[in-house]
Amino acid sequence: MAEMGCSGTEGPLPPPAFTNNPPENTLESEHWKHRPPYERQSHEKVWPVQFRAYCLCRKISYVLKQDRPLDAKFCHCRGCQVLHGAPFQWAAIFHKEDVSFDHGASGLNFYSSSMNSQEYSTPTKVSCAYCHTLIMDEGRNTCLLFPQLIDFEGTLDEQRKQRDQFQPSCHIFYEQRIMDIPDGIKKWSGMNEKTQILNDAGHPI
Ligand SMILES: [Zn+2]
Ligand SMILES: [Zn+2]
Repeated sequence: MAEMGCSGTEGPLPPPAFTNNPPENTLESEHWKHRPPYERQSHEKVWPVQFRAYCLCRKISYVLKQDRPLDAKFCHCRGCQVLHGAPFQWAAIFHKEDVSFDHGASGLNFYSSSMNSQEYSTPTKVSCAYCHTLIMDEGRNTCLLFPQLIDFEGTLDEQRKQRDQFQPSCHIFYEQRIMDIPDGIKKWSGMNEKTQILNDAGHPI
């Protein structure tokens, strides 16, 4: 009984694929794949790994060289709410040199909201092509990572101590918040210190 579909045992052999294309690493437009955070490195040899992070399906992983970010923030903007399907975003900022993806750019999807494009171009939102976990917002020089993905190790107390290094210094776009956060941390109405400081209830101070 014949079956539809590709059995792989019938018909002529497929032609040799892509023989006219230059190797990937010679394409000018793909140089970014050979720079941090996508450049492939032997982590343990190059630097001591502080943390490892995984997407939900664990096909994507990266390591961090530092045990704390340059800064961390909670962002309450509407875009972050929609993108994360959450009341707000928790983002930690690292230099690109301090982040290294285990499989380079392989298995990643990109989305530039300013260009409305899936072509790689910073700033871009990076996610797992398989399970679609959001991995980071990549800027020109820094990565805004989402610390929920980091596998903190040890007892729950030890994990909490490590996570404390990622506590945010401030909330931004607090004006657009879904809920009040009475944590006493500084709150900006908009993007940064050029905007108004608000109290936990969202009133200007
Ligand atoms: Zn995944
Ligand atoms: Zn935001």
